[in-house]
Amino acid sequence: MDFKETICALATPQGVGALAIVRVAGPNTFEIVNKIFKGKNLLKVKPNTVHFGRIMDGEVTLDEVLVSVFKAPHSFTKEDAIEISTHGSDYIVRRLLRVLIKNGCQMAQPGEFTQRAFLNGQLDLAQAEAVADLIAADSEAAHQIAINQLRGGFSKKLEILREELINFASLVELELDFGEEDVEFADRDDLKSLIIKIQGQINPLIDSFEHGNAIKEGVPVAIIGAPNAGKSTLLNTLLNEEKAIVTDIAGTTRDVIEDTVIIEGRKFRFIDTAGIRETTDVIESMGIERSIKAMQAAQIIVFLFDTEENRLFLEKLLVQYPGSKSILWVQNKIDILPEEEIRKDAIAISAKNQTGIEALSKALIETTKQLSSQDTTITNLRHFEHLTKANEALTEVLEGLDMGITGDFLAQDIRLSLHHLGEITGQITTNDLLANIFGKFCIGK
Ligand code: GDP
Repeated sequence: MDFKETICALATPQGVGALAIVRVAGPNTFEIVNKIFKGKNLLKVKPNTVHFGRIMDGEVTLDEVLVSVFKAPHSFTKEDAIEISTHGSDYIVRRLLRVLIKNGCQMAQPGEFTQRAFLNGQLDLAQAEAVADLIAADSEAAHQIAINQLRGGFSKKLEILREELINFASLVELELDFGEEDVEFADRDDLKSLIIKIQGQINPLIDSFEHGNAIKEGVPVAIIGAPNAGKSTLLNTLLNEEKAIVTDIAGTTRDVIEDTVIIEGRKFRFIDTAGIRETTDVIESMGIERSIKAMQAAQIIVFLFDTEENRLFLEKLLVQYPGSKSILWVQNKIDILPEEEIRKDAIAISAKNQTGIEALSKALIETTKQLSSQDTTITNLRHFEHLTKANEALTEVLEGLDMGITGDFLAQDIRLSLHHLGEITGQITTNDLLANIFGKFCIGK
């Protein structure tokens, strides 16, 4: 795609630093930068080289800089591009941008470089989105997912599935061209097994979203236990700061407090809940309800108890609210409990004295590892929604096949699922479909 404008923007964070990088891309990049650069003639240098020189604002030297020169199509946006490394001063950057604009550049819109990279086919949509995720990633696990997506593993997987489906769609559409003649180019059994195969690949991706999103936002952990079991103290120990109110009076932690903490490169979102106990107090029973809600929202539940009575209560609770959550049994206050009351089948800690916390952290890490055995993980809501819709359309195709419906209805649902798969990576489905038909068959119309 030919963009008329040459755009510029600061690519590094604003503020004082050792260096700042200003990026310029577009058709007049070389001409514009050459006008303000004192050094080699940039119109004559070899592509992919770096040059030292001075940036001039009229007669005034703004800074001594390095310019990195990229010739189309070998740049991020596939256009001519130059990166100017200046000293990291806001003042220099402001003046540099001003002088670039004075000489014909336009300030880039947010995300415009990446958008151009996408429109020029450097990246697909899912990869472009991964650039944003990569920049936003604040834990090792989130970073890993974003980098995988940027490298295109997920897109490739989808593309292969789409290709296979497009082939079938073409055959079904071809049948429609023959109208009244009773021809069947697309073998219905083959189509059925292809769809089952595709669903077999899409479904784990859809399922991975809950965990993928949790990695991005923090794996939700609910700490559940009777009042005074030490939930707030444990949370504080984990957060290492006093965010929850710790008190001796039973039933005072009434608000749900949430906070995130990164343990060994993984983000956890801890939910400290009001203590659970059988009670007639209205506010207290609301606390119980909230605890149960927290349990439902959590991926990992920490059952925290000190005495046997409190542990039995949690067991009762578990029977009442069964589910497939990962549960960690943690016994607190081992510093004051008599030896014989300390259980062997729980993680023993003293939240107050900060002992046993490492074992608890390890258990949390191990549990999330089990949750994320999947090699490709979806973290993006848009992808999740399109995959879900693609899957629904495929189910319609399967049902249609079972009912023996006509090709035109089948084609509709296949096209719909192709559309949703294509929306993820940013391909334009109908063009693809037509190109595929004409590319394979000369139907002479
Ligand atoms: P919550 O109601 O479950 O949030 O419990 P809190 O965190 O408010 O703790 C209740 C009381 O138990 C406070 O007095 C804490 O200081 C105390 N506590 C918490 N953890 C420990 C521990 O490991 N050992 C001892 N001895 N006391 C603790």
